Amino acid sequence: MIDAPAPVDPHQDRQQNRRLTPDEHESARRILETTRAEMNGVAAGDRELLFALRRYILNRLIHDERGTPMQRRKLKQKKAAEQTGQCAICGNPLPKRNSVLDRMVAVDGYTEANTRLLCPECDESVQTERKFS
Ligand SMILES: [Zn+2]
Repeated sequence: MIDAPAPVDPHQDRQQNRRLTPDEHESARRILETTRAEMNGVAAGDRELLFALRRYILNRLIHDERGTPMQRRKLKQKKAAEQTGQCAICGNPLPKRNSVLDRMVAVDGYTEANTRLLCPECDESVQTERKFS
């Protein structure tokens, strides 16, 4: 069964992440199925190898999307210094842990120009706002 999403305008408001059109969704499903078939072929029944292959590919795709943990850590340190340790929204001191590197426009990635460091509370509000806008 195909669980294609309802048709959407791919050029909608930049705050929301672009959605796949039904045709693009079909292409994505094909890529996923091809990748799974390829991994199953390479693993040839070796469950541990399949697990390792899946983890490897998953992590590389996440790095494609978010950068490596090392890159994000460096950017976070740079932003904390730029913002003199204060949340970009409320101005309260950023916590030592759990401050959030927020992308203003998700598709533009974790760049200096596209990110700001937020306290967890402000991040929560921003995420909620984005969900309902
Ligand atoms: Zn804040």
